[in-house]
Parts: sequence; structure tokens; C-alpha cells
Amino acid sequence: MSEFNPAVLLDPPPFPAGRVAGLADRLALLMGTSADVLLVQAEAVVALEAVAASLGRPGFKAINIVTGPYGLWFGRWLRRTGAGVVEVRAEAARPVSARAVAATLDAHPDANLLAVVHAESASGIRNPIEAILRLARERDILTMVDAVASLGGHAFAADARGADIVVAGPQKALAGPAGISWVSVSKRAWAEIDRPDAPATSTLSLCDLKRLWLDAGRGALPGTPAPLELWALAAALDRVEAEGIARVVHRHAEAAIAARDGLKALGLSPWAGPEEASHLVTAFAPPAGVDPASLLDRLKAADPEFSLGIGAGADRLIRLNHTGRRADLQVVHGMIAALAAALRP
Ligand SMILES: *Cc1c(COP(=O)(O)O)cnc(C)c1O
Repeated sequence: MSEFNPAVLLDPPPFPAGRVAGLADRLALLMGTSADVLLVQAEAVVALEAVAASLGRPGFKAINIVTGPYGLWFGRWLRRTGAGVVEVRAEAARPVSARAVAATLDAHPDANLLAVVHAESASGIRNPIEAILRLARERDILTMVDAVASLGGHAFAADARGADIVVAGPQKALAGPAGISWVSVSKRAWAEIDRPDAPATSTLSLCDLKRLWLDAGRGALPGTPAPLELWALAAALDRVEAEGIARVVHRHAEAAIAARDGLKALGLSPWAGPEEASHLVTAFAPPAGVDPASLLDRLKAADPEFSLGIGAGADRLIRLNHTGRRADLQVVHGMIAALAAALRP
């Protein structure tokens, strides 16, 4: 890292407007969708907020699954539009059960939307997305999946699973830049979003993106193009495509198994069981009698990517990050060795 020269980032050539649509098509392929892919020149939370701002309105009712911080925020953004939000909460830092989702769907047959985060990097859990999306599809309810963390870490085929709106970004498992993201929008979802009273002239308006980008022939993104982010996204996609998305996912799965095995070899238990764990981070509770803060300090000295979980219940867990380029057996073995050394009396 020390030899990195930021001056190489100055004066980038403009990203060819004609190639922006090509990026969107490549992203659609990665996500297994034939829906429209809208690029958002901002980090993925902005794309998530745009979905809430574009869908929500008084009289709109959403069932929102909360298993971490981003689901919580999504509910808040929806409520701000006057929409009704019914929360399904899992036990702290645990995945939601399909049974709880089914019960909530049955209690609210008038719901317009079911929103869920696929995998949580905050706690290392994964929600049973296939079952959840099937429940929504059986009831003909629109679905929104936050796949920001999971895309590239878990197999996910949006159309085959029946996900209407998918938000994703390059900076997690795809190991790309953090300042750009995207949303796929199905025809069914457009019917809810593209209304005469939809917000317009807003950076959070998906209708604006439809009019100024899709309907205008996808020549250029509205606003000022950010060439650094666009070039970086193109490079990240080149790398992912060269490896193959299935192999990227496999690499994450292997890293997760190695992290789990390593923890167990040290007498520690991974927080999430194998069926409910994400491939992105592996969390564990520090052993009894060990102060989590001082253990974390020692771990961070070896690798700054050790961190506490985020959110209620997860904030007493320590996370091993094996997302993106860190989904690598050598990196995982390094973390386990650091942990073994830090636990030695
Ligand atoms: C990281 C993350 C986001 C937010 O992405 P940013 O690019 O950091 O804004 C949203 N949802 C999930 C599940 C994430 O892991």
C-alpha cells in the first residue's frame, strides 16, 4: 500500500458515454436479470434510499425484514414518505425465519412490497432468501432485495428467484469502487414506481433515471459523469468476469469454511450455524473471561480488518472479514494465526 501514488488518479480520460450502457448490461448478467439496470453515481446506501423514496407514498404498505442496520434504515426512509411499514424482526443478529415472514404476509394481505437484505456483513448471517422470495411470489407481492454485500459472495439469480428490485454495489464481494452502485427494476416494479405523482428533479428519483437515461437511449448518465468511479467499476467487472462469477462465489464459500474450521480448531464457535452463515464475514463471541475490547486491540494490531459486529446483538461479536480480495485462504489462515497468538496467555 505504501508505494501507492494517488497522483495516478489525476486527469483520468472521460469514460466514454457509449460504454456506460455496456456496464449496466454486464451488471444485469452478473445478477441474472433481464430487468432495467440503473447506475447510481453514489454509494449503495444512496441507491437503497432512492428505492424507498421512489416507491413510498401514503397508502403504500411495505413489509420490511430487519436483520441489521440497512434494513432498519430502509424502513425509516419508507416511513418518511408516508408509507406504512410493518417490520419483521429476527432475534438480534440472527436471520429471519421464513415462518415469521409467512405469518406477517398472511396478516397483511394488502401489502405492496416485501423488502429483505440477502446477507448481512454486520453480523455474518444470511437470510433464507429463496424461501422468502417464494412466499412473496405466491402472494404476488413486489420484492426488494438488498444484495449489496451478497452479490459475488453468494449465488443469486434475480429473475429466477423472482426479485423485482435488487440493489447492489461493487465494493464488497466484487472488490470494486465504493462510490457507484446500481438498482435493477422489473416491469412490475416500474408500474409501482413510474406514477404521475412520483418524486422528480431529485437525486433519489428512479423516475428521473428512467426518463433521462433509459428513455433517452442510455447515451449518458444524468448529472456529471464520475470517470474515476466508472473506470474503476469497469476494471472490477473485467476482473470478476475473468475469474468467473461462479468462481468468485466459490472463493467466498471456501474462505467462510476455512474461517469456521479455524475458529473451531481454537475452541471457539462461529456465531452463525453453517446453514445461516454468510460467506462474507465470520463472527464469533470472545471466550468467557476474555475482554473483547483488549482482544480486538491485539487483533487489529495484526490485521486492521478485525472488527466488532454492528447492531444490537452483533456489537459484542468479533468479525473476520473475508469479503472481496480477502476471500482468500491465505488471508483467512493469517487471521486465524493472529487470533491464536492473541488468545495465548
Ligand atoms: C455495505 C452494505 C450497504 C451499503 O453499501 P455502501 O456502499 O457502504 O453504501 C447496504 N446493504 C448491505 C447489506 C451492506 O452490506
